[in-house]
Amino acid sequence: MPEKRSCGVPGSHEGHFAVVDPATGEAFDEAPDQQPHELDAVVERAHAAWRGWRADPAARTAALLTAADAVEAAEAELAALLTREQGKPLAESYAEVARTAARMRYFAQLDPGVQPITDGRPVRSEVRWRSLGPVAAIVPWNFPLQLASAKFAPALAAGNTVVLKPSPYTPLATRLLASVVADALPEDVLTVVTGREPLGAGLAAHPGIRHVTFTGSVPTGRAVASGAAASLARVTLEMGGNDAAVLLDDVQVDRIADRLFWAAFRNCGQVCMAVKRVYAPARLHAHVVEALAHRAKTTVVGPGLDPDSRLGPLNNAAQLARTEHLAAGALADGALAAAGGHRLDLPGYFFAPTILTNVPPDSPVVREEQFGPVLPVLPYDDLDDAVEAANDTGFGLGGSVWGTDPERAEAVADRLECGTAWVNHHAELSLAQPFAGAKESGVGVAGGPWGLYGNLRPFVVHRREGD
Ligand code: NAD
Repeated sequence: MPEKRSCGVPGSHEGHFAVVDPATGEAFDEAPDQQPHELDAVVERAHAAWRGWRADPAARTAALLTAADAVEAAEAELAALLTREQGKPLAESYAEVARTAARMRYFAQLDPGVQPITDGRPVRSEVRWRSLGPVAAIVPWNFPLQLASAKFAPALAAGNTVVLKPSPYTPLATRLLASVVADALPEDVLTVVTGREPLGAGLAAHPGIRHVTFTGSVPTGRAVASGAAASLARVTLEMGGNDAAVLLDDVQVDRIADRLFWAAFRNCGQVCMAVKRVYAPARLHAHVVEALAHRAKTTVVGPGLDPDSRLGPLNNAAQLARTEHLAAGALADGALAAAGGHRLDLPGYFFAPTILTNVPPDSPVVREEQFGPVLPVLPYDDLDDAVEAANDTGFGLGGSVWGTDPERAEAVADRLECGTAWVNHHAELSLAQPFAGAKESGVGVAGGPWGLYGNLRPFVVHRREGD
């Protein structure tokens, strides 16, 4: 496990890169800038550790439960560091740490079982499950701990070892997590590597890796898949989304406005399955815009460590520039800002929560994933058109339908081309359910038993009976 290293002058040490606090725009610490050639030794050790780790499921369960306890015991330190490097309000960082521990416990206790196969012939065959070997986990910056655990918890529970690479924007809480669980897990079972590109590319393409589990953008997902193709390692890709929320004509706007707002703006809109477009019946459009704009204008935006802040900054300068570019482009094309539309006059990467109306349907802020606090609200006259517009995207992560009659809303939700369709809420997941994007949003399945089996291979013993 790497030692947490804190340095007085961030970014000044050779072989390290600076980590920036998005609430100030200033570097506050640094992390090792590991190079791809260093992966050979890391993967070799992960391979050696696999032999012992895979052999004893009961010991694995015990170790992972102890590790989850250790994460909870360190929640204050983990949450503070997470907010510092990621930007989200501290309460959300605490919730992220709690979900990380909960996921570790969930997978620690899942058993893949043994499945007998019968087909009427005098043979007895059964499926047993075998681990794969070293797994590479590559994670983005929006939920560094939660998404890391979505990868390492099922991979470790299945008997694999893991080499985990956080985003260079958010390496510190992940390094701290590794040191927090170090006493609970055997050496080299979970290794965190940090560095800038091409470290991720090197990890995805490393010949000793047997499964690459990646969360991030679609273009990077493609690069990961093509890198892994060289060794024919399995890939699981969780990628972007452009989730639509379709409001029905019987929706009670004031009743759902809070839920809808936070489904779009939580974590400053930097959520893969955030609501990224709203389709409202033309008759209710002004009411929906007003209700969302009111919330956008009155939500307290500020540093995540300030207990009054409900929204923090964007995580990094590039994401701020992208958000600003998409909002400015829509405004130049005739959109109107019912709230926000501009950066905030604060140090760091703050953008005002923005509600856009009058947005041309082919505007990039509608067609692309904004991943920031900017929400277009589009009117529709015909529900079929709204469903068609919701589905008219290369993404297919999630979607939602909102209305007073849940049966009718569910029937509309059933028509969405995505991995998860919610009714009267959005972006809530259970540890036990599968999470899989349709179209370009995903390859493979995470979550629930499916997430465990995604880290295992079926091994069949086929025995002839009666000889
Ligand atoms: P990103 O694709 O830029 O980076 C993701 C990770 O890949 C980082 O660790 C990065 O360092 C690494 N990486 C970059 N280039 C690489 C390469 N060539 N080979 C291997 N690894 C490489 O994504 P991001 O900007 O960190 O995160 C935002 C994106 O993640 C958004 O598109 C968002 O929708 C998506 N996301 C998806 C989910 C999901 O579950 N579907 C969840 C969260 C975020």
